[in-house]
Amino acid sequence: MQVLQFLATRQIFALIGPAVLLVFAVTLLLTWNVDRTRRHILYFSSAFFAYCLAATVQIIFVPQDVGLNTLLSALLYLASALLLIEGLAIRAGSRIQRACYIAVVLIVMSAIYYYYYLDNDLVARIYVMNVGAGIIFLAALAWLDGLRKGALADQVLYWVFVLFALHFFPRTLLTINSITPSLDNFARSSFWLALQIVMSMFGVIFGITLLATSAADTIADLRHEKDTDSLTSLFNRRGFEERASRLIAEGEGQRTFISLIACDIDNFKSINDGYGHQGGDMVLRSFARILRETVRDSDLVARIGGEEFVVMLPETDVAGARECAERLRMNLEKARFSALPAARLVTASFGIAEQHEGETIWELVARADRALYAAKRGGRNRCVVDEAPETDQFPGTSSSGPRTLRL
Ligand code: GH3
Ligand code: MG
Ligand code: MG
Repeated sequence: MQVLQFLATRQIFALIGPAVLLVFAVTLLLTWNVDRTRRHILYFSSAFFAYCLAATVQIIFVPQDVGLNTLLSALLYLASALLLIEGLAIRAGSRIQRACYIAVVLIVMSAIYYYYYLDNDLVARIYVMNVGAGIIFLAALAWLDGLRKGALADQVLYWVFVLFALHFFPRTLLTINSITPSLDNFARSSFWLALQIVMSMFGVIFGITLLATSAADTIADLRHEKDTDSLTSLFNRRGFEERASRLIAEGEGQRTFISLIACDIDNFKSINDGYGHQGGDMVLRSFARILRETVRDSDLVARIGGEEFVVMLPETDVAGARECAERLRMNLEKARFSALPAARLVTASFGIAEQHEGETIWELVARADRALYAAKRGGRNRCVVDEAPETDQFPGTSSSGPRTLRL
C-alpha cells in the first residue's frame, strides 16, 4: 500500500508499458528454458528485462540523484539495444566483435555524461540516445542482412527490426518539441510517455514475432527429426521416400537419368558380435560419413534399414552410378575405425540400378536390392549392376540379370 501511495497516478499509468514488456520477457525466458540451445531467445528475453528496468528506474526515480538516474537508465536502455542486436546476430549465425559493443557503450555513455555534467542539455541527450539507437540498429542490420534471405520467420524478424530501427528518427523529431527546458523529471514529459507507448507497441510486436519464430523453429526441428535417422543423421526411410519420390516426379518425361545405389555392410553381425553393439554403431556412423563425403551434395543418402543404406543420384546414368559405387567401396575398404583393431577391414556390397520410366521409388530400390544380393552371393565387397531391360525401349542393349563389376 505504501508503495502505491508513494507512486503518483501518472507513474502507475506509465508502468503499464514496462509491465507488458515484462510479461514478454518472462514468456521468452520460459521458452528458452524449454530448449536452452536457442541462446538467442535468452538474449532477447534479457533485452526486454533490461528495457523494463531502465523504464522503471526513470518512473520510480531511483536513484534520486538526477545525474545518476540519467546515467543508469541510459546504460540500461543501451544494454537492452545491444542484447537485442546480439540475439539477432546469434540467430543469424554471425558474430559481432566485442570491441564494437565496447566502443558503442563508451561513445554513448561519454556523450550522455558530457550533456549532463559539462553541458546540461536534455534535448542533446535525447538525440544521443534515440538517433544513436536508430543508427546502431541500422548498422547491425546491414551487417546481419543474411537474415533477409533466410527462412520466412527470419525475414519477418529482419523487417520488424528495420521498421523498429527507422522509427527512432521520425518519432524523435515529432515529439521532441514537447520537452519543456525546465523539466525536473524527464519521466513526466509527453515525449517520454510517447516513447513508452511506441516502445510497448514494438515490444508487443517483437514479443509475438519472437514467439512465432521460436514456434516455427520447433516445427522445422520436428520435421527434420521425423525425417532423420538419429544414429547417422542421414535421412531415414520416411525422409528418403518423400524426397526421392519428389525427384522422380520432377524427372518424369524429362529424359534425365536417375540412378540408385543400395549398400549393405558385409558380415556386420560379426562386427556386433566381436566389438559389441556400440562398436557396430560406431561403424555405422563412420560408414554414413564416408557415404556423405564421397557423393555429391545433391545426392540423397539414407539409412533405410539396420545396416542398409541407399544413395539416389539424380542426373546420373548407370555408368556414373557404378563409378560412384566403386569409389564408395574403395573408400570404405581404406577406412580405419577407432572401435576396431587396425587390421580389421570393413567392406560392403553394392547394387546399382537406373530408374526406368514410370518406375516408383520402391520398385527401383527393389531392383538395386536384387543386384545387391547378387553381389553378396558373388562373394561380397563388390558392385553389381541390375540390368533388367527397360520394357523394350532399347532392344538388344541389355543382358538379362545382374552383372558383377569388380572383385
Ligand atoms: P551380410 O554380409 O550377408 O550382410 O551379413 P550380415 O552379418 O551383415 O547380415 P545382415 O545384413 O542380415 O545383418 C544385419 C545385422 O545388423 C543384424 C543386426 O543385429 C545388426 N543391426 C541392425 N541395426 C543395427 C544398429 O542400429 N546397430 C547395430 N550395432 N547393429 C545393427
Ligand atoms: Mg550386412
Ligand atoms: Mg543387412
